[in-house]
Amino acid sequence: SERVVIVGAGLAGAHTASHLRQAGWQGEIDLLGAEPHRPYDRPPLSKELLSGEAADAWLETDLDALDVRLRTGVAATGLDPAARLLATDAGPVGWDHLVIATGAAPRTLPGAAHTPGVHLLRTLDDALSLRAALVPGARLVVVGAGWIGAEVTSTARAAGCEVVVVEAAGAPLPGVLPAEAAESMRRWYREAGARLLTGSPVTEVRPDGVRLADGGREPADAVLVAVGSRPDTGWLEGSGLPLADDGSILADARLRAGAPGVYAVGDCASFPSARYGRRLLVQHWDNALQGPATVAAAIAGGEPAPYDPVPYFWSRQFGRMVQSVGLHAPGDQLLRRGSPEDEDGWTLCWTGPDGALTAVLAVDRPRDLAQGRRLVERRAAVDPAALRDPAVPLKRA
Ligand code: FAD
Repeated sequence: SERVVIVGAGLAGAHTASHLRQAGWQGEIDLLGAEPHRPYDRPPLSKELLSGEAADAWLETDLDALDVRLRTGVAATGLDPAARLLATDAGPVGWDHLVIATGAAPRTLPGAAHTPGVHLLRTLDDALSLRAALVPGARLVVVGAGWIGAEVTSTARAAGCEVVVVEAAGAPLPGVLPAEAAESMRRWYREAGARLLTGSPVTEVRPDGVRLADGGREPADAVLVAVGSRPDTGWLEGSGLPLADDGSILADARLRAGAPGVYAVGDCASFPSARYGRRLLVQHWDNALQGPATVAAAIAGGEPAPYDPVPYFWSRQFGRMVQSVGLHAPGDQLLRRGSPEDEDGWTLCWTGPDGALTAVLAVDRPRDLAQGRRLVERRAAVDPAALRDPAVPLKRA
């Protein structure tokens, strides 16, 4: 029978397998993963699993019931699309359809790779190793005040560690947040008892601390490097499969990846968005959850609608729930709904030149997010005056 091989046994890989069965695929399904583990979820790795509140993060997908052959500890090392052969460290694997779902790998810094005491955070094993270092009184230096840096800082402070966060840019979440939101996030670090140094590029990472561009040093018992991630596609070099400068696989609107029978989904793939008029690389959980339905429909013989979601993600940090939906363009207008001083949360909204809601960032206001998400998806126009009143539900004008 025909065989689908899925490379990468993460969220996108596991969901592709289950969507294939839902779409009626009766052929073989092989799911290959480089890690020694069955598929698990990553968001808990910086939150509940890191704190010990959760004992594990396994995905609920029942691969046996779906008749999926899972091969763990097998890494793809190359691809010959014309011969329909995948090279792996356990020998070649033939396929009729190939789904690439190898996710992303953390960026690193000079001195950080394979150094005891210096941590990256992407895998379950990374999380367990970092968790072991989070003992009361331990000095943790976190490099990077992004989403993962903030989440780990919260968790590490709750575990009784001393935490210093070193960020190269002038504010937390550079380029993501408007200045005032970045200011209130700075306050979250302070209230949690963490020291946040901004405008402090790290020049060298060592197990006993980091060196800063201004010559300063921050001593540490453990260092976490959390400076972003990049699609894990290095193994495709020489395969002829087109890659973008950001390392992503250049998928089309149905997530086909530039060679017959090859698809790409999740953190490793970018796709052309008609909605935004440009190619998007979305490295968030919701994208790895949604993309597989398109891939599965295409493989099972359907003609899926173009994949063009509104990006969505959340982050839990410093006891708060931060959620974001949509993308705002440089000229969009920023509208405030409540203020960072409000006990019950606040929301930032953006509208385009036509008055349509383009993006929402909500802090502890899940209802704004849910209502805003529908409006952003429909490009609905909103009434700015009503929107500014946090007591009035978000709705179209
Ligand atoms: P992955 O989950 O990375 O899975 C890819 C798999 O492929 C991995 O298991 C990898 O080992 C394997 N692989 C790689 N190369 C090969 C190879 N050559 N051969 C075989 N296998 C290979 N998103 C949110 O929206 N909200 C959050 O709160 C949030 N928290 C996060 C916290 C952490 C610590 C991390 C790391 C990520 C978080 N994310 C969050 C992002 C989210 O987890 C990812 O977007 C999602 O996991 C992407 O799924 P994926 O299947 O594309 O890739």
